[in-house]
Amino acid sequence: MRVRFVAGNWKMNTNRAQARALAEAIVAGAGAIPETVRLAIMPPFVYLEAVREVLGNGRVALGAQDVYSEPEGAYTGEVSAAMLVDVGCRYVIVGHSERRHILKEDDALVNRKLRAALAAGLDPILCIGETLDERERGLTLSVCERHVRSGLSGVGPDQMARVTIAYEPVWAIGTGRTATPEQAQEVHAEVRSILRTIYGQPIASAVCIQYGGSVKPENAGELMSQPDVDGALVGGASLKADSFLAIARAASRRSA
Ligand code: PEP
Repeated sequence: MRVRFVAGNWKMNTNRAQARALAEAIVAGAGAIPETVRLAIMPPFVYLEAVREVLGNGRVALGAQDVYSEPEGAYTGEVSAAMLVDVGCRYVIVGHSERRHILKEDDALVNRKLRAALAAGLDPILCIGETLDERERGLTLSVCERHVRSGLSGVGPDQMARVTIAYEPVWAIGTGRTATPEQAQEVHAEVRSILRTIYGQPIASAVCIQYGGSVKPENAGELMSQPDVDGALVGGASLKADSFLAIARAASRRSA
């Protein structure tokens, strides 16, 4: 059975006290979530240590929302993968659509970030997904294929065990619009088939593919009932402990 994985991307939200309180509430409820579901939260960089103190070495892992591609040096404002490991991160998001589209990150940079994360011992979550314009022009699968192939360029089969892919249609992020379970499944199945051609069947069937885009307690169960939807990358709904935990519970109910 593939791992179920629900991660909360807090984006540029919370202050220090709110970050601690949200993490405390999530930890308090996480004990009731079956161990079959992996849980992580991604606070802003500046609150990673504060949240880490709350999480300890417990049920909920710590992740970061981004990382820079270089190990150290004159990169003002950037944060290296080794720094994230140093403050207790296990996961890092790379290629989030807000970074691709607002901050103009290209495929090559996303790939360098992903490889830097792996080299430092972080487990990356590679975000992929089409814009509304690309979907309407029938380019969904080709855009996702490009994101997968370029994002994973130079990543070996052994390292693939540590990579999660998050399909996040850009038109569904923060908009309240969600892909239908069928739309999500179509892309997830295609991503798995691309992974099969690159890495072979055993690795492709083991990779966790999350869905992201306005996931809420009300739609999480249906989305995660699809055979290739293995979890969720949650933005807005991860800012409330109750809704994040309800999504995690929905992941635990998915059949094998
Ligand atoms: C995200 O930013 O990864 C995301 C899925 O956001 P939301 O759940 O708010 O759409």
